[in-house]
Amino acid sequence: MRTHTSLRIGGPADYFVRVRSLDDLVGAVRVAREAELPTFILGGGTNLLVADAGIRGVVLENGWSDVSVHGTVLDAASGTPLAHVAAIAARNGILGLEWMATVPGTVGGAVHGNAGAFGSDTASALIDARLLDLNGDLWNARVDELGYSYRTSALQKTPVICVRARFQGEPGDRPTAVKRIKELANERIAKQPLAQPNTGSIFRNPPGDHAGRLVEAAALKGTRIGDAMVSEKHANFIVNTGAATAADVRALMRRCQAEVRERFGVELVPEVELVGEWDP
Ligand SMILES: Cc1cc2nc3c(=O)[nH]c(=O)nc-3n(C[C@H](O)[C@H](O)[C@H](O)COP(=O)(O)OP(=O)(O)OC[C@H]3O[C@@H](n4cnc5c(N)ncnc54)[C@H](O)[C@@H]3O)c2cc1C
Repeated sequence: MRTHTSLRIGGPADYFVRVRSLDDLVGAVRVAREAELPTFILGGGTNLLVADAGIRGVVLENGWSDVSVHGTVLDAASGTPLAHVAAIAARNGILGLEWMATVPGTVGGAVHGNAGAFGSDTASALIDARLLDLNGDLWNARVDELGYSYRTSALQKTPVICVRARFQGEPGDRPTAVKRIKELANERIAKQPLAQPNTGSIFRNPPGDHAGRLVEAAALKGTRIGDAMVSEKHANFIVNTGAATAADVRALMRRCQAEVRERFGVELVPEVELVGEWDP
């Protein structure tokens, strides 16, 4: 899985299937169910810490990318990179989705985790999503049926797969959208260690505070375990400086949590998802 995650970490999957269409996706889910194999849907692998022992069962990598535009509504297949949705919106003079250009990963990953940036999030742009369960049943869910709050949805910890999503933009013009995307991207480049393998924010922001501020205040910037390091540029990023293992990253996360708990009495909750076969 190392070659399929932005952190460049993770042991093998028993089976790895890349799907490129709805038929592929439904067919692969059916075959996995018939073989009684657990199924994990992989988007861009940008919010994952995959165990060194890897993932048992089938990993379905979602390569189904397709966007259509209807007025100010964008209808996107779940394997579409979120940044591509932002680019298509901008090209069509649709505003309000520029933040998507700065969040790596796919539409499905964003719908699953309520990804967001710059004061906006998936829940505030989404109209509805088409969902698939492991029995092969498909249905539509409106945004208010998806239990959204900060980086949280009702899809988490369920095997339900998002197959498509519709997003609502606002009428505008192309130059304004393109300018805004450039501004947001520049802000990202200035603040985040994008040149080193990472998985975005490691911890959720606790209410009224920033995880990065707390980790930095605990003097943890630059702390290393193996090749995993708390970024010198942004304390809520753990970067892989070479051959970090998943165990290194988990140990460093626990160290950050322990220090912040001891100094400030705050419990940092991971934003990154630990998946695969972990020792207890
Ligand atoms: C440099 C960097 C910056 C980042 N900045 C941000 C940010 O500003 N805001 C933010 O919110 N996140 C940020 N992230 C984290 C990450 O980009 C988001 O969490 C993103 O939405 C994950 O999408 P993905 O496709 O990569 O999902 P993956 O990492 O592949 O998977 C994450 C979870 O989503 C599930 N999933 C994936 N596809 C589907 C699907 N089709 N249906 C159901 N479940 C699915 C997976 O099973 C898994 O449980 C950043 C990451 C990086 C590397």
